[in-house]
Amino acid sequence: RTTLRRLFQAIGEDLVLRDNTMDRSKTPAPEGIESCIGNTPLFRIKSLSDATGCEILAKAEFLNGAGNSPKDRVALNIIREAESQGLLTPYSGDMIYEGTVGSTGISLAAICRARGYLAHICMPDDQATEKSDLLLKLGAEVERVRPASIVDRNQFVNKARARALEHTQDPQRPGRGVFADQFENEANWKAHFGGTGPEIFRQTEGTLDAFVSGAGTGGTISGVALFLKPRLPNLKVILADPQGSGLFNKIKYGVMFDPKEREGTRRRHQVDTIVEGIGINRVTINLEAGRGLIDDAIRVTDREALAMARWLVEKDGIFAGSSSAVNCVAATRVAQKLGPGHRIVTVLCDSGTRHLSKFWAKAGSIGGNVDITLDNVLQP
Ligand code: PMP
Repeated sequence: RTTLRRLFQAIGEDLVLRDNTMDRSKTPAPEGIESCIGNTPLFRIKSLSDATGCEILAKAEFLNGAGNSPKDRVALNIIREAESQGLLTPYSGDMIYEGTVGSTGISLAAICRARGYLAHICMPDDQATEKSDLLLKLGAEVERVRPASIVDRNQFVNKARARALEHTQDPQRPGRGVFADQFENEANWKAHFGGTGPEIFRQTEGTLDAFVSGAGTGGTISGVALFLKPRLPNLKVILADPQGSGLFNKIKYGVMFDPKEREGTRRRHQVDTIVEGIGINRVTINLEAGRGLIDDAIRVTDREALAMARWLVEKDGIFAGSSSAVNCVAATRVAQKLGPGHRIVTVLCDSGTRHLSKFWAKAGSIGGNVDITLDNVLQP
């Protein structure tokens, strides 16, 4: 800690002020479930590190203790921000509305319970049912809508915004409707700028060569990049993008859609992948915040993500969700490109338990005699 303090002092930073998460070593923790948000472990993924000669480190974001994903940080920051602006009052009937593929909704629903708010979650009906079931158990209202383009008023984000307005305009209903707006609300990337980024800096003692992350809203990659890049000018920030997402082309070539991909049946507004939570076909405010700091993008196929998920279970006992598997494929590719001796940080966003009925149904179970090689895993 003394070394770190010196490090922070050398770059003119205040270690404490930059950290918006709780110190978990204090007992008892002061603020209920919110005490379990942030300060997640950073650990070495042994198999991938051994196989590449690099140190591949995983930020264990599935250990955030309210909704078990990095979205706990975001949901808490969005609520705190709205409270500080006087938009939310606990136990007044105020209801938070959000459009989400699941994780943000789960985090919001849990924190809403703890803070005296109600939650209404709009989500596409093609997402794993584990997530909507969990939302109902957390007491949220759940509205599953048909997947649609962002220009369609029934799209899940637009639906949540409209529902918030309806609530506020309804004289029969107590409280207000507040739209959390994770895609465009800058409290999202700021949660990572104030938490995830400083934590990674501290946990690596400022020594890392690359940060690899997917983007759903873009909050994680932007917030972490905005914190780390000015402090580590040689750091490479790499986007891990699932197949079908437009961000790969946007980062690589500056255009969202490859003209060659225009033909065909795929609806361009939808990301055609079994991976949930990352990949998008538009540049959100949260991605735009850090877009200029992203050095490169790696496209990861569903086949690779499934193979990596199986690899992580078999070799390391890590039961990862789909976006975590995508991150690990990209981190391994970065390690291979940089060569042995480098240190790469990536994110394990959520657990495979959220993805049993979709992603893991395809990944199958590990038979015990599966001999997976890295060459087999990394085959687009
Ligand atoms: N993984 C999962 C499982 C997610 O739900 C999300 C967010 N939708 C992400 C990763 C991506 O994070 P971000 O929104 O910060 O880009």
